[in-house]
Amino acid sequence: MFKFKINDTVQITAGKDKGRSGKIIKVLPTDQKVLVEGINLYKKHIKPKGNEAGTILTLPRAISVASVALICPSCSKPTRVGFDASQTPKVRVCHKCRQIISSVTKK
Ligand SMILES: [Zn+2]
Repeated sequence: MFKFKINDTVQITAGKDKGRSGKIIKVLPTDQKVLVEGINLYKKHIKPKGNEAGTILTLPRAISVASVALICPSCSKPTRVGFDASQTPKVRVCHKCRQIISSVTKK
């Protein structure tokens, strides 16, 4: 079960963006990675081609889920995500305040 969903707000807990937070724009469950808006940016150099000028794009790179913590919408703290399987559908819960974060939707 993947703990993160698109539009979750997460805090970065490791790496060069440690302490920053952002919104998840893509999840990569098979790689155990997430793409977070404005986090882990890198510059991609596009070479000039024909009459198109070369340019530098700034793109976000996916970051390992081990380096992010979900920010709970109820208590606004970075927390671990738990699951409550006693409810249908199964829900994600905050480890700190025990509030339901959202339901778990299967893909
Ligand atoms: Zn909470």
